[in-house]
Amino acid sequence: MKKGNLSKLIRPSVLALKAYEARETPCAVKLDANESPYSPLPLDKVFSKKDILGSLNRYPDPEAKALKKALAKDLKVTEKNILFGNGSDELIYYLITTLGGPVLFPVPTFIMYGVIAQALGEKAIPIPLDDDFDLNIDRMLDIIKKDKPRLVFLSSPNNPTGNCFSTDRIMRIIEASKGIVVVDEAYAPFSSRRGFLPLLRDYANLVILRTMSKIGFAALRVGYMIADEGLIREVNKVRLPYNLNSLSQSVALEGIKNKKIVDAQIRIIAGERDRLFDELSAIRGISPFPSEANFILCKVSDAGKLYRGLLTQGVLVKNMDRMVPNTIRVTIGLPRENTLFIAALKKVLPKVIIKSDT
Ligand code: PMP
Repeated sequence: MKKGNLSKLIRPSVLALKAYEARETPCAVKLDANESPYSPLPLDKVFSKKDILGSLNRYPDPEAKALKKALAKDLKVTEKNILFGNGSDELIYYLITTLGGPVLFPVPTFIMYGVIAQALGEKAIPIPLDDDFDLNIDRMLDIIKKDKPRLVFLSSPNNPTGNCFSTDRIMRIIEASKGIVVVDEAYAPFSSRRGFLPLLRDYANLVILRTMSKIGFAALRVGYMIADEGLIREVNKVRLPYNLNSLSQSVALEGIKNKKIVDAQIRIIAGERDRLFDELSAIRGISPFPSEANFILCKVSDAGKLYRGLLTQGVLVKNMDRMVPNTIRVTIGLPRENTLFIAALKKVLPKVIIKSDT
């Protein structure tokens, strides 16, 4: 076969996709990927445990039973309400595979809802958020009525805007939808809101998506969904066997056992976020948006220039220009890193500010 002919074999919906870009950019201060700056468990302590891996030659526990039991107890749900994914990304894949489209979500939001829908050849319906980054409720209710989406994804707090959607609007969507509504609570640990878990009992079409990635365990790839037992049973049918490796299961279990350490770190991060917001608000040429997550979206006059300028100072942030024009997203780091970020910003920003900002 000639080289060029290969592309004719690829499904057009996949051919049109761009691969997820997670470039490794060398830097002294890494504030680009919404990770926690803390590793909650000292690795030598974890690995000195005899049973951390079990046996290398055996497959992992396919049901992650010990981890599921501990998590169910912690969340006060039954084990039958929980399904693990290799990151919550994988569960988004499984949900769209199980239910199909149309898939409705607001934009800007986490890009994987749209990417996975497209990869699976399902119709994606992106609806712009309103001027306050809240759900455009009339348009979404209209789509729910007309297009009958089988899945709705609502990231609250939302990535990359950082805000929670209003509870009342989320409720109206859950109540109006004949399909499944997934409230993605990846960043909920950093928010003062209560979250939607207590509503699971009342709404069979509600799914809560969570992850251990943002609270210090990104390397493990452990995400989980909490939902109606019947739905978990169906989604479990498309799950790949042994999707959660032994090491991740063991370390995640240690993480749950050491909840106090993790929670204390979350509180420090949320406090640093509020400090950073106040400091950013006082700097001319940059406007932070209020955030309930572990990152802050900031409006600037030239995001690309600021991104590159910060990198010359060793600080890596995320240039969000393509998704939200003229913005960068900065992840909350260690207190020392946040201070370095502010210092770098003050140095670089005067060169970036265009005349109209002054
Ligand atoms: N949901 C949201 C809103 C996210 O921002 C992310 C990570 N960027 C994920 C889910 C996926 O997280 P993970 O696959 O690491 O669990």
